[in-house]
Amino acid sequence: MSHLTDFDSLTPEQQACARLVLETLPHGINVVTGTVIAAVARTDTAFHRGATLWLSGTSGVHAEPAAISAATTAGDPAIHSLYLAMRRTDGGDPGYVTPCGECRQLVADLATYTGRPITIYSLNDRLDHVQVIEHTELLPHAYGSQRLRRAGAARLANPVSA
Ligand SMILES: [Zn+2]
Repeated sequence: MSHLTDFDSLTPEQQACARLVLETLPHGINVVTGTVIAAVARTDTAFHRGATLWLSGTSGVHAEPAAISAATTAGDPAIHSLYLAMRRTDGGDPGYVTPCGECRQLVADLATYTGRPITIYSLNDRLDHVQVIEHTELLPHAYGSQRLRRAGAARLANPVSA
């Protein structure tokens, strides 16, 4: 269940991912509204970073798909955790950011594809508390298909070699 937890209760590895997502925030670019989000996608073997890239009103990439794409591009799609943080241009409290609807569907699709649930850790910039949400809570009735599940199982059984 979704809950707030103390930062100090996270494992050292989770704390390192949390710090990394805050370190990634300055890499975000948003010329349109200024607000940026950073994401760190964690797998068993690596982490993959992404940040907002929004250059005009007609093109943009959210942090979550950027991080997920970095993971899949590296041949490492089995994400089990996604860390998120936001920085507002007005300096206001960013609160705990959650993925937009399209990104929620992407996370749900990836979990179906890999057969692995994804936990979202949403951070504020004080690193005092962390909101923890399972992907199924973000999109409880997500579109899914057996074809997607089979495609993921086939790919994971025969990963692309470098
Ligand atoms: Zn999004």
